[in-house]
Amino acid sequence: MKITRLEPFILHAPVTRGGIADSTHALTHWGAPGVAIHTDVGLTGYGFSGTHAHLATDRLITDCIVQSYGPLLIGQEIGVDPCEVANLWEKLHKYPPIYWVGRAGITHLALGAIDIALWDLKAKDAGVPLWKLLGGSAAKRVQAYNTDGGWLNWTLETVVSDCKRLVEEDGYRSVKLKVGSANPDDDLRRVEAVRTALGPEVRIMTDANGRWMLPEAIQTAGRLADFDVAWIEEPIYFDDVQGHRRLAEAIRTPIALGEQIYTAAHFREFIHAGAVHYVQPDVVRLAGVTEFLEVADTAHSANLPVAPHVGDMAQVHQHLCFAHPACNLLEYIPWLHDWMEHPARIQCGYYIAPDAPGAGTTPNQRAFKEINKT
Ligand code: MG
Repeated sequence: MKITRLEPFILHAPVTRGGIADSTHALTHWGAPGVAIHTDVGLTGYGFSGTHAHLATDRLITDCIVQSYGPLLIGQEIGVDPCEVANLWEKLHKYPPIYWVGRAGITHLALGAIDIALWDLKAKDAGVPLWKLLGGSAAKRVQAYNTDGGWLNWTLETVVSDCKRLVEEDGYRSVKLKVGSANPDDDLRRVEAVRTALGPEVRIMTDANGRWMLPEAIQTAGRLADFDVAWIEEPIYFDDVQGHRRLAEAIRTPIALGEQIYTAAHFREFIHAGAVHYVQPDVVRLAGVTEFLEVADTAHSANLPVAPHVGDMAQVHQHLCFAHPACNLLEYIPWLHDWMEHPARIQCGYYIAPDAPGAGTTPNQRAFKEINKT
């Protein structure tokens, strides 16, 4: 089949209770700027990025998709060759006029949405879910951990009752709490209250969203071990490889990071430096499925687990987790699930392998009506 047309879209979906915050970000909507790739056989592939729903910036991404990459894609053949998306990715990524201005940022997010749409197209053409195309197994157990009960703008009472509900009613065995409050004692009080409420069996992750300087991180993250925390995520500034390495040497709690890292090359630096324990690539921050698989392979070869960050609200990541041996734990946040044709499904705290052909990125009718308003 041949690519005939690229159609951009921007979807803004409301977040939980009208607004969430962590130590660094505050959101009312989650953005999914993306592209529909149409073909001469009637199949369409969908891919999108994940943003803070800032319309002007989302338009930069969709403009880059259509105007910069579009001419390189129109007329391209997509068939059964397993390497063709990776080869096309290489051609797009290394195209000098685009490469010159951005090997990360807007151009990378745009390439990620395109790559996801190409994999969606390829899986639909094969008539199988993406995990199957990638050699995965539905028998694999992919545990979900829920981030949507621990936002920093919610009171301690709300966080405790939400986490209890997630565990006792919904069956989650892992929840994540945001930390990085102005007063570190408030963070420790929240973690202690949730640990007391949930008991010793439930896994609790913490996430500072890059808020601390190294000395604060050593002091505060060092005390999280008292509450048997599974990891501290993004304790200090996202890009600081040596700072994370020094922190890893100073505290007992493992370090998780990766949601702000754009490239496989940068992940390699963290992994080889011993600066990360749980590797958290995001298929919509990296340039799509192709680069995600490279990161997952690198982590796996270093005996590090991959627990992806879900800028796609797990729609694509669920496929990647059923396909890759390093990925057994996947975040869950529900913000796009009312807008997808086949939303990710959880049962008793575990993902259910999707059965629809494609990468899980096809918007539903409700989404198409909203997209047309943007
Ligand atoms: Mg995070």
